[in-house]
Amino acid sequence: MNKTATEVRSYRHIIGNEESLIDGYIDRYSPTSGRLVARFAEGTAQTAEAGIAAARFAFDRGPWPRLTGQERSRVLLRAASAIRERKEELACLDSEEVGKPIRLARNDIEGVIGHFEYAAALAQQVHGDAHSNLGPQFTGIVMREPVGVVGMITAWNFPALTYSQKVPYALAAGCTVVLKPSEFTSGSALELSKILLESGVPAGAINVVTGYGMPVGETLVNSPDVDFISFTGSTATGQRIAAGAAETTKRSSLELGGKGANVVFADADLDEAIDGALFAVFFNSGQVCVSGSRLIVQDSVADDFVARLSERAKHLRVGDPSDERSQLGPLIHELQAKKVLGLIESAKQEGATLVMGGMRLTHGEFAAGSFVAPTIFDAVTPNMTIFREEIFGPVLSVVRFSDEEEALALANDTVYGLSNAVWTKNIDVAMRMVHGMRAGTVWVNTSTDIGPQMPYGGVKGSGYGREMGRAGLEEFTELKTCLIHTGKRTPFPPFAD
Ligand code: NAD
Repeated sequence: MNKTATEVRSYRHIIGNEESLIDGYIDRYSPTSGRLVARFAEGTAQTAEAGIAAARFAFDRGPWPRLTGQERSRVLLRAASAIRERKEELACLDSEEVGKPIRLARNDIEGVIGHFEYAAALAQQVHGDAHSNLGPQFTGIVMREPVGVVGMITAWNFPALTYSQKVPYALAAGCTVVLKPSEFTSGSALELSKILLESGVPAGAINVVTGYGMPVGETLVNSPDVDFISFTGSTATGQRIAAGAAETTKRSSLELGGKGANVVFADADLDEAIDGALFAVFFNSGQVCVSGSRLIVQDSVADDFVARLSERAKHLRVGDPSDERSQLGPLIHELQAKKVLGLIESAKQEGATLVMGGMRLTHGEFAAGSFVAPTIFDAVTPNMTIFREEIFGPVLSVVRFSDEEEALALANDTVYGLSNAVWTKNIDVAMRMVHGMRAGTVWVNTSTDIGPQMPYGGVKGSGYGREMGRAGLEEFTELKTCLIHTGKRTPFPPFAD
């Protein structure tokens, strides 16, 4: 990989310790300039099966699951420091493939390092439980073992970060992995996997097969040799994957879509809330599962809040992601831009008030990219399409409420349940909202903050299972119960006299 990620990068699959088996290429064009930036091998069902076989062999016969936690921890720490050394390259790569502003991409890689370090620490702490209260003749042991071969399928919006929320935790648990990254942004998954192999992960313990959901992802889901599926992507695909995984009785964890609410009470620090609301909806151009795309604001301050928010939003800098000053880049591809523009059109037709934006940017530097202007709609009502559907673009819907009960009802009025935020100085109100909200994460007086120590995941249509934190590692384990009897057995049948 070159330092500034400006040449066309050409990748093969990583299967065992080989970069192998090219069946054809998927070309990735920059969403900013239209230039060809990367070529990923297009996997077939056979390539996916080769990746699964390598992971299966590495789990059943290879050294990785048999190392001590401390040994696995050292390998992950070596990888973390190698990633730090190559931070700028990796940030440039993700920035180019996603169209993500470079400063945001650097933050992502910093997050990646944090996950590797945290997973390394957890690797040393995996343990089960012992029971000594089963009577004098019994000792019970509950062992925590790696679940086996983990199939991973990921989305395109945070490629390196999503990788780091899964792979180091599964490896820390002693699992082996076969990963299919998004066909749009596979580069960082391949580079990070090479780093893992160079850092001491044995061949076959990490495999990457690039390509489309069908056939590569589907082959992972359907294979009896894969023990667990860890998926990040849309709710529609997640439902399909859960159904497929059920056919071979494998567990799955699903990190799916979201429709986050930012609830602002009149007593909140409004400057802080404006800052948090802006970041929550516009960072990564709104292509964020935990995006705060619904702003639910108390009507007594709503006019003032929306005026100040849109004044600040007008100064957001949309531009080339490689420009240090850019705060928003293009959307991932043309189809996504069209989808977002279609939802904007629906809002106009359904009677929402367009406060700013609402169009594609096509002039000057935007001509060759899929740029959509930061957009704010006021007077949105719960029956409107933009209130209900995940937009995955830079579009904010403002809804007003009069009291706490209405605010909670609005926040929960969605099929999703990934994350919400509440802004108030009243701790009683804040905690009532936290308890009442059906979501995997609730922020109080902040938004979208996340760290490796805290479990992350959704409820309802946002999926199930958790990543990150201790729970994120335990997701990749299975419990085994062992009962040990000592002394003379009570003769069979114990109930006869
Ligand atoms: P997507 O569902 O279209 O694709 C996700 C992955 O699934 C890709 O790798 C794709 O190739 C693969 N895939 C597609 N069809 C498949 C099939 N039939 N079998 C197996 N694999 C298949 O999602 P996307 O457009 O890449 O990402 C955007 C979505 O991801 C949004 O809904 C967003 O909210 C969600 N997302 C969620 C989280 C989270 O942590 N909850 C994080 C990032 C993105």
